[in-house]
Amino acid sequence: MLTRLDPELKRTALAAGGPHAVVIGAGLGGLASAMRLGAKGYRVTVLDRLETPGGRGASLSQNGHRFDLGPTIVTVPQLFRELWRACGRDFDSDVDLRALDPFYEIRWPDGSRFTAQQDDAAMKEEVARLSPGDVDGYLRFLRDGEQRYHFGFEDLGRRPMHRLLDLIRVLPKFGMMRADRSVYALAARRVRDERLRMALSFHPLFIGGDPFHVTSMYALVCHLEKSFGVHYAIGGVAAIARAMARVVTDQGGTIRQQAEVDEILLSRGRAAGVRLGSGELIGADIVVSNADAGHTYDHLLRNVPRRRWTARRLRRSRWSMGLFVWYFGTRGTRGMWSDVGHHTILNGARYRGLVEDIFIRGRLTDDMSLYVHRPSVTDPGVAPEGDDTFYALSPVPHLGHADPVDWQEMAEPYRRKVQTFLEDQLLPGLGDRISASAVFTPETFRDRYLSPHGAGFSIEPRILQSAYFRPHNISEEVPGLYLSGAGTHPGAGLPGVIASAEVLEKVVPEPAEVTPR
Ligand SMILES: Cc1cc2nc3c(=O)[nH]c(=O)nc-3n(C[C@H](O)[C@H](O)[C@H](O)COP(=O)(O)OP(=O)(O)OC[C@H]3O[C@@H](n4cnc5c(N)ncnc54)[C@H](O)[C@@H]3O)c2cc1C
Repeated sequence: MLTRLDPELKRTALAAGGPHAVVIGAGLGGLASAMRLGAKGYRVTVLDRLETPGGRGASLSQNGHRFDLGPTIVTVPQLFRELWRACGRDFDSDVDLRALDPFYEIRWPDGSRFTAQQDDAAMKEEVARLSPGDVDGYLRFLRDGEQRYHFGFEDLGRRPMHRLLDLIRVLPKFGMMRADRSVYALAARRVRDERLRMALSFHPLFIGGDPFHVTSMYALVCHLEKSFGVHYAIGGVAAIARAMARVVTDQGGTIRQQAEVDEILLSRGRAAGVRLGSGELIGADIVVSNADAGHTYDHLLRNVPRRRWTARRLRRSRWSMGLFVWYFGTRGTRGMWSDVGHHTILNGARYRGLVEDIFIRGRLTDDMSLYVHRPSVTDPGVAPEGDDTFYALSPVPHLGHADPVDWQEMAEPYRRKVQTFLEDQLLPGLGDRISASAVFTPETFRDRYLSPHGAGFSIEPRILQSAYFRPHNISEEVPGLYLSGAGTHPGAGLPGVIASAEVLEKVVPEPAEVTPR
């Protein structure tokens, strides 16, 4: 296939000597992969279509406000520290990470609240305040989470899962832990109060999973929070992305922004380079795609016959939900809304029904639940003095459902609904204070990140779309091609994509073993 391009690919691969790794995408998963490959001895080139590194973890500036576009909560910070150590560097010298306590507040329409925090006794009091009879069940749920953490995160989540044997070996443990049960079902077995069930089971929504269908392995998130805390990087996740990009360039790697890859090229059946949208050819000894797995197979490998990740299979996969995100600044509000902290989850009246409308029925409804980010509480530099920077995130259907939402038409009416909900429930007087405003819809995710169906977090992390069943880190379709990031093992979220680079490092050949073609 495409052998007539061989001489040009060979010339560019060997130009500077040594094995050359091309990484498509400078998301956190792509940057972590580049760091690990650079530390291993590869000569690395990262190619990304956007203006700045970080992918979903980049930021946007408007009228003196700096908005984190995507991730805001950093859990399991030791994953970053280990990544830096693998490159002979010290994470804490490069990034100012602050532990937050309380972690976040959850509010319900009846006025009740739940504050997640570090201290065990305070957490028990919170549970008892909502439902005195549920304290023992809550403690059992925490023990469930801890068990699942040791198996699902430390073991399974950090090692390759591409061989059938890998799967067969873990099946008994999956069975023992009733991984077939949903995280909501596990919470419902442990506590009676519906609000607590929500508070213990909503976390998969942050990585694109429907809590009523994703595996109870995700109970491990409560354990992650309790054991390792909830953190914020001063400067936002974009500051982490910039620090990662610096490590890559210090290692001698190259990062090219505004460089969109149009196709992965093969030579003698192996990945041998890429062609950019501009027509430029870049040769490589290995290619790593941090682009969405769906985009990688459906678009970048469109001319290659595929056995597993065919267009049909990708179409029939269940995709994570879409996201509507309203980024807004407010003037003169630092003394206002004093009970609104850094992270708030603002529930509407429905939990299960709303999740089903979003994930199953694919319907945009009038009611909503929001995650509200107010980083100016921790990092005043994100807004002009006396002002605030916010974002409000509403999970919405992705664009692959029958009769998808036309966001060209709906973005502004829906933004107004979000504003009204916030004015009624959290930020009275908001309408008179807005000083900056921008909106991302699933169409933005489709066009900006090239996410299939505009999904927020790639393929949904249901059990039959996880581990061995997810697109593998070592491509099933083309030798010499590897995957990292949200769409591959172990999955979405910062811990997931950073761990995917660790898995990648274990499956790529040692540079000395790479035979220059
Ligand atoms: C609104 C939001 C909030 C979130 N909150 C949290 C949170 O609080 N905590 C948490 O842990 N996680 C959170 N997440 C999830 C987390 O941000 C993502 O799972 C993770 O950042 C994905 O990283 P990635 O490297 O897989 O991909 P991406 O960040 O999507 O990066 C992929 C990059 O590849 C580029 N690309 C794609 N195709 C091509 C091509 N053909 N050529 C060149 N470049 C290409 C894209 O433009 C992009 O820059 C959130 C996500 C969103 C959207």
